[in-house]
This record gives sequence, structure tokens and C-alpha cells, in this order.
Amino acid sequence: MAKPVIFAIDDEPEVLNAVERDLRHHFQAEYRIMKAGSGAQALEAVRLLKQSNASIALFLVDERMPGMTGTQFLIEALKLYPDARRVLLTAYADTEAAITAINQIGLDQYLLKPWEPPEQRLYPVLDDLLGDWMAHARPPYDGIRVAGTTLSAASYSLKDFLSRNLVPYQWVDLDVDTPARELIASSPDGMSRLPVVMFPDGTTMVQPAARELAERIGLQTRAQRPFYDVVVVGGGPAGLAGAVYAASEGLHTVLVERDATGGQAGTSSKIENYLGFPSGISGEDLARRATTQARRFGAEIVSAQDVTCIRRNDPYRVVVLSDGSELNCKAVLVASGMEVRRLEAPGVSELVGVGVYYGAALSEAVMYRDKHVYVIGGGNSAGQGAMFFSRFARQVTIVVRTAKLDAMSQYLVDRINDTKNIDLRTRTVVSAARGDGKLTAITLTDIETGTASEEACDALFIFIGSAPRTQMVADLVERDAQGFILTGRDLLVDGHWPRSWTLARDPFLFETSVPGIFAAGDARWGSSKRVAAAVGEGSATISMIHQYLQTV
Ligand SMILES: Cc1cc2nc3c(=O)[nH]c(=O)nc-3n(C[C@H](O)[C@H](O)[C@H](O)COP(=O)(O)OP(=O)(O)OC[C@H]3O[C@@H](n4cnc5c(N)ncnc54)[C@H](O)[C@@H]3O)c2cc1C
Repeated sequence: MAKPVIFAIDDEPEVLNAVERDLRHHFQAEYRIMKAGSGAQALEAVRLLKQSNASIALFLVDERMPGMTGTQFLIEALKLYPDARRVLLTAYADTEAAITAINQIGLDQYLLKPWEPPEQRLYPVLDDLLGDWMAHARPPYDGIRVAGTTLSAASYSLKDFLSRNLVPYQWVDLDVDTPARELIASSPDGMSRLPVVMFPDGTTMVQPAARELAERIGLQTRAQRPFYDVVVVGGGPAGLAGAVYAASEGLHTVLVERDATGGQAGTSSKIENYLGFPSGISGEDLARRATTQARRFGAEIVSAQDVTCIRRNDPYRVVVLSDGSELNCKAVLVASGMEVRRLEAPGVSELVGVGVYYGAALSEAVMYRDKHVYVIGGGNSAGQGAMFFSRFARQVTIVVRTAKLDAMSQYLVDRINDTKNIDLRTRTVVSAARGDGKLTAITLTDIETGTASEEACDALFIFIGSAPRTQMVADLVERDAQGFILTGRDLLVDGHWPRSWTLARDPFLFETSVPGIFAAGDARWGSSKRVAAAVGEGSATISMIHQYLQTV
């Protein structure tokens, strides 16, 4: 942890050097001593210190300086460091100014120059003030901080990106943190472009794109080799399992993930039916463990890159990424899973990130402490979400089209029934959302009677199913009308393989209509849409890839 700062400011170089010398002599062991020759210079340094989240314990400032007086400097500096102790260095003639400053800025002390001997006239005063400061100071957060306003879609997606990539950060809420707001307001972009990411070294990124941020925080965003045995598309359970098995069996493997490893499972607050975890495991934890395991076996994990298309260049396959780069390989495992279906109702799309969320939005849940939130959907993910929010929210209302929760596992239905602050609206849909800058109300429509009523609502979490994410192979492999990828015997039509299948052998169980391109997990037609099933398919595919590699 960096030492707190004592900051001395005086425009006369000899005086400034003398103050610095005396401060170092007595305080150096516990404090970092900084100095500046003018109020303007000092303010610049104070802003940088604030940006890097350093602590300032005390300002020792000459009152009579050209351009900016000591009091004027303190007025500005205290906006950023309201708790710092403040001492003016004055001449006899300045005592009036010092007394005014006591009233104006709560000046702690003024010291008459010269302060010789410091043992009597400087150190006891500062020791007392610093002891007082220390008793109330909280150690500053030493990691990445994200400054923004709570109800902002951009802040939400950035926080979600960091938390899903397991990067710890501190949220700085500019709606309530006045010193931080002062700091951001005084930067070149001011409050016009948020969020701002502040790093411990004092550097910042304003509204960074996911890939820029990923690079800055040390995630790998580019593949290291020109050629791989296997490229895995997607870092959900199927892709991670594929990467673990492929890499552990000696195949040069790279996994490309557009967002954060863990996939849909990574957004689950608790997975209770995955083998080997009798009291459940959070999706985040499972993702972290699997990602570490894949890396440990030597798989590369490239983050914040979308696979935009896959081509064949026989006998090789070419995987094209969103930055335009291409990965050549022998085999591809498409494990791109599903993405949530959007709720088509007036007002909803405008409020995403500011009260309306798709999925569990775990990073936002605490914001809705003691509020009334609504969950749409009757599946297990909605049930888990409702249980999770019930720990924070005053009331959770589940809205379903059906007459009861018949699409949900019984263990979750039982839990929901036992939870006092969860209630259920059956045969109902959300037909509109309203709000100005943030969600305030939703319209609920009874699907039998058509009766609509508007209700106040603090947050709406939507879990209304998903669609496969397989656009990157749309023109390459056989898919069904919804976009699920057909594999193995599911490719047979009237006993015939599709025309694109030209090999004498039959496709492997999870092989698509293009040899060497495999699909596993939720994106595959006929898969069970469960974590364990996706893990099983992802790992089983690797043995098929081994067999395929013997043929090329
Ligand atoms: C909230 C929630 C709770 C759930 N709870 C449970 C549970 O308790 N038990 C259970 O068994 N199942 C549960 N499920 C279902 C389970 O999570 C899924 O079946 C499982 O995650 C599917 O794994 P997958 O790897 O096939 O796909 P996904 O998990 O969907 O992962 C696919 C990955 O591919 C990435 N991707 C997609 N397209 C591209 C591209 N073009 N380029 C790069 N990357 C791409 C995505 O970003 C994603 O990370 C839950 C699902 C949700 C949403």
C-alpha cells in the first residue's frame, strides 16, 4: 500500500526546500513528501494523485503566492480531498487571511514563518493533525476503479465485462461521490463521456471498447500462433471442456471468446445440478476453474474477439475474427451456444442497462436492495434469478405466460414457494416499459382477458428463452430453421447425406456437414441445454477430432 502524501506548496524555492527538508526529516518513514512551487502546479499533481486513488493526509501551503493564494488553492484541492488536514504558512501580515480561512475552509492551523526550531513549532502541530487524520482514514482501494453513473447502459456493460472476466474493480458512483465527480468534471472530456476506468498508476481510459480494455488489463486478445490443430469457438461449458481435453491431449488449441468465458452458465448465480458440487456452484466459480484448467494444459484463450465467419481452404479451416485476423487450423469446434431472446414490447429496448436487463445481471443486483423487481420467464434461469434477487430486493414478482411454473425444476419451484418476498403473476405478459432515463413502470397484460395495468417497477430482469448463435457458419454448414447446427446422423434427409458431404465415410457423431468442423453444446441441434450435457459434448468431440485428424 502506497504511503499517504504530505503536500507542501510555496512559491519561494528556499522556503519550499526548507519545508521539504524538515518534513522528510520527521515524517519520511510513514508519509510520502511532495512539493510544488505554485497552486496551479500543485492542483495538477493533486488531480493525478486522485486519479491513482492515492491518499493525501495534509496540505502545508504558503498563503501569499502569485496567481493563486494558499486559501484559493485549498478551496480547489479540498473538493478532491475533503478529509485532508490543511495548514497555512503565513507571515505576520497574513493572520487576517488565515482567520478568514478558518471560517471559509475549516483551516486546521496556521503557522507563522519561520517555524524554527521545527521540533517545537512544526512537528507537534503536524503530529497532532496527522494522528487525527490517521484515526479516521480508510486505506484507499489499490486496484482498478470504474467511475460512472449508476443508471447508464455503458457503465453497466463495462462492469458486466469486468466482473464476468473475473477482474476485481471498485465502482465509483458519480451520483454520490462528490470528490470523484469533481475530478472527472475537471478532465478534458468532463462528464460527457462515461464511464471512465482509472488504473492504480494514475492513467485512465474513457469509455473504452471491450477489446481495448481487455488488452489493458492483460487479457489475451490475439492468438500467438499462425496455425493450430483445433480452434474452439466460444468459451461456455462446451468450449471450455473441448479446450481442456484438446490441450491436455497435446493438440495446439486456441479458444476464441467474444465476451467472457463461462457463457450462459457463467451468468448463473447457482448451478445446483452439476455433478460433484452437492451444495451447488456459482457459474462464475465454475467458469474460473475451467478457464484456469484449460490454460494450465496450454490452451490459449483469446478474449473480446468475435468469430465472424469460418471458411474452408481444404484440407484446412480458416476462422476469421472481428479484428480481421485469421486463424488457420485443422479442425474447428463450434461451441457458440445460445443468446437470450429479446422482449419485443414498446419502451423495452431504450431502457436496457438502465433498469431493464437480460439475464441475471449479477453485478447490478445490489443496486436494487429494498426495491421491487420483476422477473419475466418460467424456466430454471428465471427461477434462479428470482431466488438470487430475493436476497436483496424487497419484493420479487415473477411474470409468466403459463398457468403455473411447469417449465421449472421442482426443487426451484419449492424454494420459490417457500420464499416470502417472491410472488407470482401467471397468464400475464409485460407489454410495455416506461421511464425517463431509467425504468419506472411496466405494463402487465392478462393474456386471457386482455386487461392491462401499469405498475411501478424498479428493475426488470428478462429470461424468455434463447436462440442459437451460429451466424458465423450460416453459409457453411447445415442448420435447422432456427439456426441450430445439424451434426452426425441428424444430417440425414430421407436416408441421404447432404450434397455438401462428399466423403466416403459417415460424419462423426458431432461433426457438421463440413468435415473437420464439429459442433457441441447448446448450439447443436438436439442438445439438452444443460451444463453437464455441454461439458460432455465438448469433451467427447475431442476424441472425434483425433479420429478426424488421422484422415487429413
Ligand atoms: C441464467 C442461466 C442459468 C442456468 N442454470 C443452469 C443450471 O442450473 N443447470 C444446467 O444444467 N444448466 C443451466 N443453464 C443452461 C446452461 O448454462 C447452458 O446449457 C450451457 O451454458 C450451454 O453451454 P454452451 O457452451 O453450449 O454455450 P454457452 O454457455 O451459451 O456459451 C457459448 C459461448 O460462446 C460465445 N460465443 C458465441 N458466439 C461467438 C462468436 N461468434 N465468437 C466468439 N465467441 C462466441 C458466447 O459469448 C458464450 O460465452 C442456465 C442458463 C442460464 C442462462
